[in-house]
Amino acid sequence: MSVTPARTIRFNLLTPGEDATRVDAAIHRVIERGWFVLGPEVEAFEREFAAAIGTELAVAVGTGTDALALALRALDIGPGDEVITAPLSAAFSGLAILMAGARPVFADIDPARLTIDPRAIEAAITPRTRALMPVHLYGQPADMSRIVDIAERHGLHVVEDACQAHLATCEGRPVGSLGTAGAFSFYPTKNLGAMGDGGAVVTSDRALAERVKRLRNGGQTARYHHAEAGVNSRLDEMQAAILRARLPLLTRWTDRRRTLASRYRRELAGAAVTIPPEEDAGHVYHLFPVLSERREALQAHLSKSGVETLIHYPVPIPRQPALASTGPAMCPIADQVCRLVLSLPLYPSLTDADVSAVAEAVRAFG
Ligand SMILES: *Cc1c(COP(=O)(O)O)cnc(C)c1O
Repeated sequence: MSVTPARTIRFNLLTPGEDATRVDAAIHRVIERGWFVLGPEVEAFEREFAAAIGTELAVAVGTGTDALALALRALDIGPGDEVITAPLSAAFSGLAILMAGARPVFADIDPARLTIDPRAIEAAITPRTRALMPVHLYGQPADMSRIVDIAERHGLHVVEDACQAHLATCEGRPVGSLGTAGAFSFYPTKNLGAMGDGGAVVTSDRALAERVKRLRNGGQTARYHHAEAGVNSRLDEMQAAILRARLPLLTRWTDRRRTLASRYRRELAGAAVTIPPEEDAGHVYHLFPVLSERREALQAHLSKSGVETLIHYPVPIPRQPALASTGPAMCPIADQVCRLVLSLPLYPSLTDADVSAVAEAVRAFG
């Protein structure tokens, strides 16, 4: 006889909590001003977000995917060029490279850190390689000192996919500020989320920022004058105002994610799952993945116990049909992680008791 759980621990909870009053005020401010696209909220958010990341500039765009693609295009990376990236990420990372017209080349991940392996990058470099696109996966920074070193030796750009890593640091320095440019997503589930889609390119290169600004707005140099074939990818004023309301709370929310993660680590000691190590204290725990040889059974057991989980990610990017044109990639470690990985609930409004209940359910799996 199966026991019906008393309540469900949701994988995520997106209704406003302590930010509700601030978000409400922001929304009303925009409505009353009657200015909805590329206005004062976007300009202010760009300044405030750049300051939070430690770059000179930020350019707000429609999505994190667009942030990646437009950063590459602004660097004149396109057809005939190769960009080396990680096989384990949201498929949008790989799609962004295709959107720019370039070819994604996948270098396998480090088995502990689960981010791109610098040795695999070295092996994947060809005369066509123009940029490296590491992904700070699950909120853990990629091994940036080695990656930046490789890029400098080979004359390559680094575009950081920081879509899961707002306020993360690598050896004490903020991600997004370590390469030529960084890309962030404000999709609602991200550590800093809007109430719709959003993204930003951060950089300290003024010419690069200006080019992204032009590209996001149809390639216009002045109103109705389109110098190049840009796209329509503008963050709207409502989302910018909501992000401005939430940005001051992000440090506290990040601390809370770290506290919950260390509680998981304590309470899962001895459980029949592998927890990827924290390789850098600057980890911001966008997700809390565990690895299990019996992943499907564990997920079913947790579901019966009232714990929602998700898989990030079930398919390595190079094995997605959408990426078939890029040719086969040998990424056995990514293949294996995709078979074993399961994300447990982790978000700032999760309670200590929730984490204990999840950990207990995992331990009961044996
Ligand atoms: C979310 C995400 C993206 C895409 O961001 P969108 O805003 O959804 O387009 C890209 N890369 C990673 C690692 C992500 O987590």
